[in-house]
Amino acid sequence: MKTIDSLGDLRGRRVLVRSDFNVPLDGTTITDDGRIRAALPTLKRLVDAGAKVVVMAHLGRPKGEVNPEFSLAPVATRLAELIGQDVTLADDTLGDGAKTAVEAMSDGQIVLLENVRFDARETSKDDAERAAMAADLAELADAFVSDGFGVVHRKQASVYDIAQVLPAAAGTLVIGEVEALSRATDNPERPYVVVLGGSKVSDKLGVIANLLSKADTLLIGGGMAFTFLKAQGHEVGKSLLEEDQLDTVRGYLEEAERRGVKILVPTDVVVAPAFAADAEPTVVGAGEIPADQLGLDNGPETTAAYATEIAAARTVVWNGPMGVFEFDAFASGTRGVAQALSDSDAFTIVGGGDSAAAVRILGFEESTFSHISTGGGASLELLEGKVLPGLSVLEDNA
Ligand code: ADP
Ligand code: MG
Repeated sequence: MKTIDSLGDLRGRRVLVRSDFNVPLDGTTITDDGRIRAALPTLKRLVDAGAKVVVMAHLGRPKGEVNPEFSLAPVATRLAELIGQDVTLADDTLGDGAKTAVEAMSDGQIVLLENVRFDARETSKDDAERAAMAADLAELADAFVSDGFGVVHRKQASVYDIAQVLPAAAGTLVIGEVEALSRATDNPERPYVVVLGGSKVSDKLGVIANLLSKADTLLIGGGMAFTFLKAQGHEVGKSLLEEDQLDTVRGYLEEAERRGVKILVPTDVVVAPAFAADAEPTVVGAGEIPADQLGLDNGPETTAAYATEIAAARTVVWNGPMGVFEFDAFASGTRGVAQALSDSDAFTIVGGGDSAAAVRILGFEESTFSHISTGGGASLELLEGKVLPGLSVLEDNA
C-alpha cells in the first residue's frame, strides 16, 4: 500500500484525510473516544510535516440530509483537546463554509469538514454521483490520506472515489490495522478461536460461512446465539431471532461438523422480562428460555466454557459483545470473554465498535490485548478474506 512518504514533501500542501470519528454519543457527550485517539498519529504526523490538514468524517446515519443532531461539533471539541491545538469545524461539508475555512488555513492547521453523510452523494450507489462529490472534495486539497479504517470496506465518495482523483496514500492507522489483522488471516498460529456476538445478526451470520474454512473454533454469543439455539430446536422466547436464517445456520452447523470445526453455543443464558437496565435477571438452561422472556447475556457456565477455549488458543479474534453489557446485570458474559483475552498470551484481536468500547468501559487495560481494531465491518471483511474497495484503491499499482 502507498504510504504517506510516497506523497513527498507536504509543507504548505492541503491534505484531505478521511478519519473514522463515528463515536458513541449520549446526547452530545462522547461516551468512548477511542476512535478519535486512534486517529491522532496520522493527524499529528501531517501537522508536523507542515500540511494544511482537512479532515472528513461521518457520524451516525443522517441519510444524506443536514441534521444538527449528527453534527461533528462534539468530535471537533474532543479532537482539539486530544491533539492540543485548535480544530476549526467548517459550517458545512462542501459549501461556502468549507471553502472559506480551507482558504483561511495556515501550515499545520486543522479544519474538520461537517459530516460527509450530510451529502447524499457520499453513500450513493450511482458511480457518477459519488465521482461528482469526489471532484468537489478534490478542489479542497492536493493529496488524500485514507485513515478511517472503519469505513475502508465501503465504496463511498470520501473513501474510495476521492482516492482516484487525488494522489492517495494509507495513513498509519489503516496500515497498522491491516498488518495486525493479516496475522490472523495469513497463517494464524493455531488453535485459532473466533468469538462472535453483538446485535448485527444478519451481517455477522454471513461471516461464519468464510470463517468455517479458517478458524478451528467458533464461540457464539450475543444476539446471534438465539438463531443458533432455535436452529438446534430450542425455544428462545422474545430473544433476538432471524427466522429466515435458520436453514443457513443449520447448514453452518453441518458444515462445521464435516470440517471438524468446533462451534460452541451457550448452554445457559441470562434472561429477563424486558430489555431494560433494571429488568430482573435469571439464569436458565439454554433449553429453558421462558416464552415471555428474552436472553440478554451468556450464563456463567457458558462464560467458563468460552474462557477455557480462549485460554487454549494461540490466536483469538473477538467481534461483538456477548450480551447487553451496557446494563450491569447483563455484562458478565462480555466481561468474561474480555478477561480471558486479556489474560491470554496468544495473539488477541478485539474488533467491532461496541466490543472495543466494551473493553474500555468495563475497565480493561488496552495494552493487555494485542490489537484493538477501530473497525467492525471492515475487520470482519478482512478476516473473511474479502477485497476491500477502500484498500485496493490504495495499492501501489492502483
Ligand atoms: P460491534 O459494534 O462490536 O460489532 P454490534 O454492533 O454487532 O457489535 O452489537 C453490539 C450491541 O449488541 C451492544 O450494544 C449490545 O448491547 C448488543 N447485544 C449483545 N447481546 C445482545 C442480546 N442478547 N440481545 C440484544 N442485544 C444484544
Ligand atoms: Mg456496533
